[in-house]
Amino acid sequence: MHKQLWRLSSLAVFLNRPLKLFLVIFIVACMFVQSFLQPTEAAETGERLLVGAAAGNITPWLGISINGSMRDRKATHIHDQLYARCLVLDNGSTRVAIVVCDSCLIPREIFDQAKQMVQEHTGLQTNHMLMAATHTHFAPTAAPAFQSMPDPEYRHFLTVRIADTVRCAIDNLVPGRIGWGVGRESKQVFNRRWHMKPGTIPPDPFGRTIDQVKMNPKRGDPNLVKPAGPTDPDVTVISLQSVEGRPLALLANYTLHYVGGTDPGHVSADYFGMFANRIRKLLGADLLDPPFVGILTNGASADVNNIDFRAKPKRRHPYEQMGMVTDAVASEAFRVVQKIQYHQRIPLTIRQAEIQLSVRRPGETEVRQAENIVANLKGKSARTLEEIYAKETIDLSKYPDRVELIIQAMRIGEVGMVAIPCEVFVEIGLELKKKSPFKTTFVVELANGYNGYLPTLAQHKLGGYETWRAKSSYLEVDAAPKIVDLALELLNHIK
Ligand SMILES: [Zn+2]
Repeated sequence: MHKQLWRLSSLAVFLNRPLKLFLVIFIVACMFVQSFLQPTEAAETGERLLVGAAAGNITPWLGISINGSMRDRKATHIHDQLYARCLVLDNGSTRVAIVVCDSCLIPREIFDQAKQMVQEHTGLQTNHMLMAATHTHFAPTAAPAFQSMPDPEYRHFLTVRIADTVRCAIDNLVPGRIGWGVGRESKQVFNRRWHMKPGTIPPDPFGRTIDQVKMNPKRGDPNLVKPAGPTDPDVTVISLQSVEGRPLALLANYTLHYVGGTDPGHVSADYFGMFANRIRKLLGADLLDPPFVGILTNGASADVNNIDFRAKPKRRHPYEQMGMVTDAVASEAFRVVQKIQYHQRIPLTIRQAEIQLSVRRPGETEVRQAENIVANLKGKSARTLEEIYAKETIDLSKYPDRVELIIQAMRIGEVGMVAIPCEVFVEIGLELKKKSPFKTTFVVELANGYNGYLPTLAQHKLGGYETWRAKSSYLEVDAAPKIVDLALELLNHIK
């Protein structure tokens, strides 16, 4: 301001005296008014949104255990690289990080340790970070699942890489703008639990004939009656750009277990990884510095997959189906982005609470029966459902009586987000969306830990795979209403 005044007064030397005086008074008055109209630089950085994104490679080595089925598999080929993808937002008063990893299930210890590392290096509080797995079924075992056991070396590698990715995203923070919207893709989602004609559902692994629904029946099975639940077609999108409009990141949510259709032994991020690449292409965001980061979070998709059970199966090449689903979801996300309105100043809040829930531990007789079945295996791997679930019963007998789960709610502008450490049934996601105080809400499942399937009370009564007691399903039957109540309480708190 002083420099400008000096330049103007030297210009005034060449003018006559009354005009000189008038000009100087007028300019000084203008500067005075302008200084009140424009916010100071300090106030602006205090409120303007900062956005940072980064992706860190979490691909394993060959020979590692791959989970996602009841029998263990080993990695023989890396089809596509796995990533932890991170978005950091800072509105001047709150900073949050969201990390989504190409992994099937990640236990709480790994996420807790990664959060601790980030806090030590950057000061970002551990309860301001949401970390989740996508649920690709073609990634290394990070939590014990059926007969797959994690490699301690990979667990350590994964922990450090997750923490590093958040630190890199913080390093990439720049002034940015944000917008959101919701699209719809209903043709790629199908409820996978079915009511069947009477007498056609086999006994459960414990020899009981109480199941009223079957998970993943044969396609085109003449005994199909009707699906046991709905689907959620929403494609929720949060788009991030630099203030000049350069794409920085995109965070989407779709409610689909995974797609599959790989070759045996392959490591792949499934359609979650394809989506990240496809949306980058659609947005013309290749070769940017820092690189654009596309992120697809998984919704409440425990009982929703990509199989059209009523239709005859079609022969597809490996990865062909994945590509088709990716096209459909990414095109819809891209369509939503075209209509988005951007904001540079937004409310940003995160609330976290812990909930203690009981474990459905097996009784003494059940454990003894299971031990007999496992003893007959003589160290061989379990093959039948009875053998596999006998092993699960023994594992569950070593679980504590109660476990603690992290539930989070986040507000990003006018969008609400809930994070739950389970494979969440779609009805729960739909209920949270309906009862949420936000017009747009979505659920991120398998977040901040792994506590198995979360069926509703009604779905528990119907039985079926997702309710069979195992490391993949062990929370008390009342877990869902308790978690929903807490999540809604958190959402109402931040609205
Ligand atoms: Zn799964």
